[in-house]
Amino acid sequence: MDELTAAIKARELVQRVDVNSIPVRVEPLLAALGCELKVDNDMDPHEAGYCLSKNGAHVIVVNGKDSPERQRFTTFHEMGHIDLKLPSEHAGSPSWSYNKRSANEICCDTYAAEILLPHRFFKPLVDSADIGMAALDNLSEKFEASVTATGSRFASTTNVPCAFVVSENGTVRYTVMSKALREARAWITRGIAVPSGSSTALIRNGQSVKGPQEIAADVWFNDWRRGGVLLEETRYLRNYDQTLTLLWFEDEEVPHESGSDNDEVDDEMGLKELDGILPWPGKRRRR
Ligand SMILES: [Zn+2]
Repeated sequence: MDELTAAIKARELVQRVDVNSIPVRVEPLLAALGCELKVDNDMDPHEAGYCLSKNGAHVIVVNGKDSPERQRFTTFHEMGHIDLKLPSEHAGSPSWSYNKRSANEICCDTYAAEILLPHRFFKPLVDSADIGMAALDNLSEKFEASVTATGSRFASTTNVPCAFVVSENGTVRYTVMSKALREARAWITRGIAVPSGSSTALIRNGQSVKGPQEIAADVWFNDWRRGGVLLEETRYLRNYDQTLTLLWFEDEEVPHESGSDNDEVDDEMGLKELDGILPWPGKRRRR
């Protein structure tokens, strides 16, 4: 199973149940999969939930001590295990940790995000939002989702070159790059220390940083040759020692690599606009 298949299955369920408003209601989705939901107030704080299945009936149990947003995500994640027929691999690290998550768990997270933040409602709101932590707060409230889930989904949905980075104990655990940044081959290595001098490092060290701050793109991006200045805005989740970082280019465009093919493409596109004739590729580009 890959993440795309998981996302498609989730979209099928959203269509079948005819989800037509936000926040997405849990009950009709549970009913569609024949699930019952129980809240356990005595669950270990490191556990988010689990499901029990017998003779085609399913009971999803979530941790009553978690925030309502987290409980919603867990419910949809467990529905993923049922709908995708993927066994749980929850043993090991705490549910909220990004340490060593297995492929099955990542697929169920993708499934949950697709239901919690359905593309057809989420995408138009992302497109009209002014990028920043305030936008994530606003969207997370609308969809009753955690800021972490909303930020990940925001980066994978937006047209703006942006990255959402989750770090834990000062180490980068998880990055979602927007399409524009993936195409520009922006990369943040998993497991590196949060770059010193970044707002993320400063805030984690207890310093006060207000609003987005400028930072050279190559401070965050590995082997980055395009230059440019990013805006960085950070939130610290003290209870989990997690930092959420939103990075984006201030003019919302990825800088061109100097001396690269991109410049030639631009020249050709300029010609195309002038005379309306699509030019042949230059000799250098055909090598
Ligand atoms: Zn799971």
